[in-house]
Amino acid sequence: MKVIDSLIPRSGLRVLITAGANGIGLAIAQAFQEAGARVHVCDIDEQALAALPEGITYTNADVSQEADVDRLFEDAAHLGGLDVVVNNAGIAGPTASIEDIDPESWNRTININLNGQYRVANRATPLLRESQGLLINMASVAGRLGFAYRTPYAASKWAIVGFTKSLACELGPEGVRVNAILPGIVRGPRIEKVIADRAAKRGISYAEMEKENLSKVSMRRMVEPTDIAAMALFLSAPGGANISGQALSVCANVETI
Ligand code: NAD
Repeated sequence: MKVIDSLIPRSGLRVLITAGANGIGLAIAQAFQEAGARVHVCDIDEQALAALPEGITYTNADVSQEADVDRLFEDAAHLGGLDVVVNNAGIAGPTASIEDIDPESWNRTININLNGQYRVANRATPLLRESQGLLINMASVAGRLGFAYRTPYAASKWAIVGFTKSLACELGPEGVRVNAILPGIVRGPRIEKVIADRAAKRGISYAEMEKENLSKVSMRRMVEPTDIAAMALFLSAPGGANISGQALSVCANVETI
């Protein structure tokens, strides 16, 4: 195979993506579909699920609920196995000092961001063993840097890196690869609102606030959801076949947060 051809996943991959109805998950779902994959997603946003591109099948399932994850795998069984599973669901969690974070918001963040990935990996492993497949766990640059006032989020994302590396050691001898992707500041409505709110609070323009936000990113720019999708596709392509156990930042080099 020519190297250039090894950059594209083979057609017909069976792909499961959590939180695939919006944002990064949706960009990954669309990219796999464009690459000829059969894609099943879950999400809790019913409207966004109903608006998914034709051909992408879905389950309304919350990764923090055991029964929902069971139902997700029952529904995804129509694919006849799984080659790639993307553990993408994650919430921002509270922004507060540690003494102001209540147990409910701490536990909710960990239950979705970390335990949700456990639940999916737990069900996906036999299928990935069967297909010699790939598990991609979505972490964050907050999984390699300290993040003041976002301790549950950062703790969950550092945990994802440990989870990924450990699982890669465990499943590698059986032919299953496991990698984490660490996105930086990803362009989208969420970050635009954060910047607009902060700018309004500070009485400065959106452009000034954005510039300040990006001053700790070497490339001085955000990344696009499609940049994350491109990494997911490469990991799934023959060219990525020897990449496992890695925490791969796609972040334009975020230096501190
Ligand atoms: P988003 O908020 O744009 O979309 C998240 C999707 O997750 C929504 O469709 C939502 O309905 C769904 N969702 C929320 N809770 C769920 C649950 N319990 N079960 C199933 N679905 C659920 O998110 P995003 O920005 O695309 O983030 C996706 C992943 O990337 C997350 O793990 C996030 O931590 C990570 N990430 C995002 C950024 C960023 O800048 N956007 C940066 C680093 C890491």
